[in-house]
Amino acid sequence: MKDCIFCKIIAGEIPSAKVYEDDEILIFKDIAPIAKIHLLCVPKEHFAYLSEAGEGRAALLGRTLLKIGALKDELGLGDGYRLVVNQGENAGQTVRHLHIHILGGQPLPWGN
Ligand code: 5GP
Ligand code: ZN
Repeated sequence: MKDCIFCKIIAGEIPSAKVYEDDEILIFKDIAPIAKIHLLCVPKEHFAYLSEAGEGRAALLGRTLLKIGALKDELGLGDGYRLVVNQGENAGQTVRHLHIHILGGQPLPWGN
């Protein structure tokens, strides 16, 4: 999609530190990490929100989560990790291309 920064990364038009790629997803390092390991997992197909994904992408979304699980040791996440999907304004979503933040490499505080 024109003017989508993640589509440009997927197309190789903007450089990124890629850590995994297959036919349907790309995982690369977040440019402004908030944890020792901070990766972004994006479907190569452009869509912005889970609410517009539809039944047709159910299998893709399932495979994406399973793939992250399968890669956990390879990605250095063996001691635990957190997945975050910001959706919309209140969540502070800044890039309108669905992405899963993968956080790890350190203890991740939750609540108080
Ligand atoms: P959001 O706030 O939409 O959930 O997350 C967008 C994420 O994309 C942010 O964590 C931000 O640091 C990251 N990001 C934005 N632009 C780029 C970029 O050009 N390259 C990389 N690697 N990450 C980016
Ligand atoms: Zn896109």
